[in-house]
Amino acid sequence: MEDTQIHGLLSALPQPALLITGRERIVGSNGKADALLAHRSGGTAKTPAPSLAGRHLITVIRQPSVIEAVERAGETGQNQRARYLGSEGRAESTYQVHCGPVALNEFRGVLVTFEDISEAEANDQMRRDFVANVSHELRTPLTALMGFLETLKGPAAEDPAARERFLTIMLDEAGRMNRLVSDLLSLSQVEAASRRRPSQPVNMLDLVEDTLSGLGPVAEASNVTVETVLPDQPVSLPGDRDQLRQVLTNLVENAIKYGGRDNTVTLRMERLTRDPMLRQAGVRIDVTDRGPGIDPLHLPRLTERFYRIDSHRSREMGGTGLGLAIVKHILNRHRGRLKITSDLGEGSTFSIRLPLQQ
Ligand code: ADP
Repeated sequence: MEDTQIHGLLSALPQPALLITGRERIVGSNGKADALLAHRSGGTAKTPAPSLAGRHLITVIRQPSVIEAVERAGETGQNQRARYLGSEGRAESTYQVHCGPVALNEFRGVLVTFEDISEAEANDQMRRDFVANVSHELRTPLTALMGFLETLKGPAAEDPAARERFLTIMLDEAGRMNRLVSDLLSLSQVEAASRRRPSQPVNMLDLVEDTLSGLGPVAEASNVTVETVLPDQPVSLPGDRDQLRQVLTNLVENAIKYGGRDNTVTLRMERLTRDPMLRQAGVRIDVTDRGPGIDPLHLPRLTERFYRIDSHRSREMGGTGLGLAIVKHILNRHRGRLKITSDLGEGSTFSIRLPLQQ
């Protein structure tokens, strides 16, 4: 095969590809392979990387598993796979390398193609982390429950006062597991519906009233006053009422929990004729507390699942660490936004924006 034919064929492939002959000499490469392997062969991001044709594979890829897979494919005539770790820019990327033997007339070689599997790998890692986190979160209350059950069966069997105390703690721990499971279910329901745009008209003033009356007992228990500043005109937007209620509930409940006892929480709603973030008319709802505030260091990570500033305090308050992750997912589904601002010692504002039209 001639070089131009090889180049033409390789250029038609969607992934980076190299053609290699007998002693690991590269006889052809496409532009994507030149670019992918450029950092090892002197190319820069600005100029197209020089062709790798003519070079020896070992000088281009210094990862033994890839070289071995190419050799094995040549020797055995069977497809081989390997993993190539690239480092384009700063981000690490992972490629699945396919080595396919080629026999065309007299020509014997190996076609090496690179499939970018970084995203799939990152998703896998996220799933593994999530399962590990969930297991850990469930195990803590479960261990406590089992411990108390053992004590109730044994040493505390005949002690009514201890029994009473332990049952109260057990009820608490079971409640924690229950909240965690309901938050997990909410999260998976929101994710499952994420591609369906919500369309039911939601009366936002009504929704605020409903949400706050639902939270009445929680506010009362902490002696927190929730004040509202609402528009005079009704505001309606396309949404999923139950989900929007959950957003408001989570934000106001957090403001009550973390804002501190005997304090005031403010819910302010405003209609915006044109919001620069949404690029259309929208509604902004700010939930402000006057608690200790949040160190800016934590702000970017607050909506991650199970991210808590102070795990002990969150647990004490009955938190699952999923509230803000649920808020973020619901807002994404509604094409809305969440912005958190906070001054240490002054309090925090969780501000959401929702478009008036989908
Ligand atoms: P949790 O169930 O722990 O409350 P969230 O996802 O609702 O989980 O919140 C994540 C973390 O963000 C909380 O653990 C808390 O540290 C912090 N946080 C949330 N809301 C506030 C607030 N109003 N003031 C201070 N910290 C907050």
